[in-house]
Amino acid sequence: MKELTCQQLVELVTTYLDGALSTADHARFDAHLAICDGCTAYLAQMRRTIELTGRLSSEAIEEPMRERLLVAFRGWNDAGRPADRMGPRARAREAWRRLRRA
Ligand SMILES: [Zn+2]
Repeated sequence: MKELTCQQLVELVTTYLDGALSTADHARFDAHLAICDGCTAYLAQMRRTIELTGRLSSEAIEEPMRERLLVAFRGWNDAGRPADRMGPRARAREAWRRLRRA
């Protein structure tokens, strides 16, 4: 089973919250959350946003946050780090370190 990346998780989060992920993708999503504090925090923020707005829609999504995340993940990929040799926790830590600096 292929491991989900942080960026893929961010892209799937609305589908996840909508309960529309396939069983396999749902399992990969949960597996990533179990090892990634950054994405766990992101999901919690999404849930809170939906609670406040009472619905799941494009307006409910905090686009600036999503954009910052995607930019942070992109920047980290472009840096040519040996991501393959880093564990998922190390990769998530690095992405979030970049996000805080942004
Ligand atoms: Zn993650």
